[in-house]
Amino acid sequence: MYAKPHIRELAPYIPGFQPAADQQVIKLNSNENPYPPSPQVQKALQTFDYSLLRRYPNATAEYVREELASIYNVEPSQVFCGNGSDEIIALLFRAFLPEESTIVLPYPTYSLYKTAARIHRVHPEFVATSADFRVDIEALLAVPSDAIILVNPNAPTGLLLPVESVAELARRYKGLLIIDEAYIDFADGAATALPLIHEHPNVIVIRTLSKSYSLCGIRFGYAFANAELIQSLDKCKDSYNVSMLTQTIAAAALRDQSYLAATIQRLKESRRELIGQLRSLGYSAPDSQANFVLCTPPASRGLTARQITEKLAEQHVYVRYFDSPLLEDKLRISIGTEEENERLFQLLRTM
Ligand SMILES: *Cc1c(COP(=O)(O)O)cnc(C)c1O
Repeated sequence: MYAKPHIRELAPYIPGFQPAADQQVIKLNSNENPYPPSPQVQKALQTFDYSLLRRYPNATAEYVREELASIYNVEPSQVFCGNGSDEIIALLFRAFLPEESTIVLPYPTYSLYKTAARIHRVHPEFVATSADFRVDIEALLAVPSDAIILVNPNAPTGLLLPVESVAELARRYKGLLIIDEAYIDFADGAATALPLIHEHPNVIVIRTLSKSYSLCGIRFGYAFANAELIQSLDKCKDSYNVSMLTQTIAAAALRDQSYLAATIQRLKESRRELIGQLRSLGYSAPDSQANFVLCTPPASRGLTARQITEKLAEQHVYVRYFDSPLLEDKLRISIGTEEENERLFQLLRTM
């Protein structure tokens, strides 16, 4: 009754199911990393002086900003830290997208953007990808808009738009170009659009520690852009948006780049193995550049993606199914450990 009309009508964003922490499950439904965070995170937690918690945290996560700046070869003034990249997404709307403005996104993509647009009374225009989920930059440019949002590698498809195409978009587009690189660390080769921020004042790249650093639980996202865009985000954020514990843990994780590299290597091997297993069962499973795979069950086995999801859940193995346009009868499976993949494979074999 009390909500604003457009909030009353809003279809809420539905996060993936989270089982109780003490439950023994195989959880492959939220693109979490199956490996633990860096041991440096454990050390930082063990040596953290709890009495500091009576104070407010550093308002701009200064030390983490500096760490990110040094790793990625940018100035600290070109870095923003947020309470998860989900917070940064909300701030992008707050800072840059007036009511009744238009954003253009490929479809399918990360569905939170549609919810965030509706909350901020921004019009999302979706441009369908090809049947094999290729993003068409001409089609994106053809729609008059205030911002283009690209998730790259895209979710839930796992496909990467080559950096040359992203660079071409940046050259030709005058609005704000937002590139969500939540999964970029899982992509092969130099796929990031990050260097574009030096030449293009309209490009913003957002990232998260959730997926590749195994830190969904701390809520830490970051963004790179020219200093003027970053200042606008700073003005719109909550004063103390990143908690002290989050800053401590984020800094420890970022300092351990060799652990990141090793985990990613393992995850990529696990990904290759899982895709091979799925194909051997007749599933169609395109190569993925992310930590999940979008696949289609073979008609010959007689079960839909939804039925498979439900049967797996009975065995405490959780995956996600989609059944929306272009995503009919699709399963999205996050890459687990080698043992988790094996258990999944054994169950799928019997279905
Ligand atoms: C997981 C995900 C996010 C959210 O990341 P958080 O930092 O955990 O909020 C943002 N964008 C995409 C595409 C994601 O898949």
